[in-house]
Amino acid sequence: MQGVGPQQQSRTRGSGYLLAEMTWPEVEAAREAAPLVIVPLGSCEQHGRGMALQTDTVRAVEMAKLVAERMAPQAVIAPETTVGLSEHHMGFPGTITLTPQTLQQVIYEIVHSLYRHGWRKVFLLNGHGGNNAVVDIASIRIRTDFPDMHLASSGISALVPDVISQEGVSELRGHSCEVETSQALYLAPELVRKESLVRGTDRRADLDAAGRLSRMHSAIHFPQPYHRLDPNGALGDATAASADFGERQVSAALDRLTSFLEQFIALPLPDSGSASGPRSL
Ligand SMILES: [Zn+2]
Repeated sequence: MQGVGPQQQSRTRGSGYLLAEMTWPEVEAAREAAPLVIVPLGSCEQHGRGMALQTDTVRAVEMAKLVAERMAPQAVIAPETTVGLSEHHMGFPGTITLTPQTLQQVIYEIVHSLYRHGWRKVFLLNGHGGNNAVVDIASIRIRTDFPDMHLASSGISALVPDVISQEGVSELRGHSCEVETSQALYLAPELVRKESLVRGTDRRADLDAAGRLSRMHSAIHFPQPYHRLDPNGALGDATAASADFGERQVSAALDRLTSFLEQFIALPLPDSGSASGPRSL
């Protein structure tokens, strides 16, 4: 692919699905054809020496565009959030974080606004794993307060763990690693300074004692700030990234996401009063 992703094409394809680029009569018309709204959630945080702070936001937006194009005209895209919960990246210049309380209120109020305009199927497409707990809390509040709508969410990498593990990726990864950098190279190559990519901490054994404990078991949550995990703030080996690997991840994620969303759109709305709880017990 030589770093040529879908992005240039989608930027010139018009604004048939981006709410913020529409006039209100255009939104009114789009609402008739589009039962689904996708809300991209991002962050403004360090991504090592080789990627821009807005990497999570742009990945989420570009992924949402691919979904909306494939599902056209059934989906529109709400304005993205450009700042998330990034306390664990504050050791690096430029990272901006909201508190968990603020972020969950922002998500809640965006979805509530969409609800007031008549949408009842909303999907939160989250580009930043650090937002996950907040997305879950906001979603519980929304489902409780608006039980006659359907709300679902996911990340991008979490949709394709099998595609990622097939590639022989680093033992330690998850932020600005070869997985995320490959997605960026495919979706939005201008985010990446290829000449500045360096291999990061990629083995658990190379972490300090707290870092090793933090990665001891996926079920045990003991997060550590990124400046303690790697001097450049990047895990894994970003130098192993490629647009081709990014395309394999994105195309599998796109297939899985659209398969879910086609069925999500077809679901009847829930009865009021049948609010669902957390997604697992
Ligand atoms: Zn990221």
